[in-house]
Amino acid sequence: MSLVSIRKTVDYRQETVDAAIARHFEALGVEKDLRPGMKVTLKPNLLTARRPEQAVTTHPSVLLAVAKWLRDRGIEDITVADSPGGPYVTAALKTVYSVSGLKALEGHFKLNFDTGFKEIRCPEGFQNRSFNIINPLAQADYIINIAKLKTHSMTTLSAGIKNLFGAIPGLQKPEFHYKYPELRDFSNMLLEIAATVKPDITVIDAVEAMEGNGPNGGDMRYMGLTLASRNVYAQDYVAARLMGLDPESIAMLKIALEKGLFSTGEIELAGDTVQPPETPFKLPDSATLDFMSFVPKIFREPARRMMANFLRPLPKLEYDKCIGCGKCAESCPPHIIKITGGRAVFPTAGCISCFCCQEMCPVHAIKVKRNLRRVK
Ligand code: SF4
Ligand code: SF4
Repeated sequence: MSLVSIRKTVDYRQETVDAAIARHFEALGVEKDLRPGMKVTLKPNLLTARRPEQAVTTHPSVLLAVAKWLRDRGIEDITVADSPGGPYVTAALKTVYSVSGLKALEGHFKLNFDTGFKEIRCPEGFQNRSFNIINPLAQADYIINIAKLKTHSMTTLSAGIKNLFGAIPGLQKPEFHYKYPELRDFSNMLLEIAATVKPDITVIDAVEAMEGNGPNGGDMRYMGLTLASRNVYAQDYVAARLMGLDPESIAMLKIALEKGLFSTGEIELAGDTVQPPETPFKLPDSATLDFMSFVPKIFREPARRMMANFLRPLPKLEYDKCIGCGKCAESCPPHIIKITGGRAVFPTAGCISCFCCQEMCPVHAIKVKRNLRRVK
């Protein structure tokens, strides 16, 4: 069975979150996994430098609750590590730790500044035989993946599986976007990374989640929940349901089901009973429209290709908001964005619609337009 623990966690007060984590870990029997002297790495979502109340990054109270629970059981070697968007360098890590509220918690855990990585084999790989994984994850004895629940402009859902993309060091991430511009291939790669990192436990921070243009430019949506599981795939399936989404419309979950990484019949829920919301989470503007269910099966592949060409979402700059910081250009996999006259310029040709630019823009100056012309 794939046990998914769900707990009402009404706010981020430390005692509330501590109690939720203790009950999750009790339900999952985490204590029996622990050994004296083991190295534990906590993998939050630290996409970019955002304050906790902006609902972009994992809330610091969730990381603190997990670290306190481990320390109470004699685990001393606890490191918090992620590779945020942009270059994986000490200065960038310092900024992210400080703005996201983690710097203030140093002492409860170590903050990672080792920017090295190690090649790890992916035995289950079908597109990739190995990945470069950041050292604190490659060298850990035990990994607790601590994701934030959000919508995502490319993958629709950002939860446990997508959080593990942060195991890839810095600007090697845009290279994967470039290598796999099609959603299905990119989703396959996310599943391969999850199988390579193999988190022992995944916790999802869904107290304040994000809807709309996630993972950075959406709106905070209160859910008042945390989730935990040993099976990251089953857990994401349940999380999508709790957002009011159809999990099987999300490519990575559909493929995980096809590959037998979990089965819906084997999901067992523990903890609080929670129903999906009456109003589903708002999807990103870039979300693919579902025309295909109206198209006879034999015409679906040519129709899909035609739609991809004619209705492909593309980034659109809100000129007055742009501050010319260049973060979009830095993260653009095919390097097509130029900064000219203190503003970003987005050519259509060469764009792979990955929305890494939107993800990294600090002032939310990048919107989505649907193209009615053929993309070159
Ligand atoms: S679009 Fe956003 S990320 Fe790009 S230069 Fe302008 S402000 Fe910076
Ligand atoms: S312009 Fe934006 S959406 Fe297009 S390829 Fe570059 S980062 Fe991706």
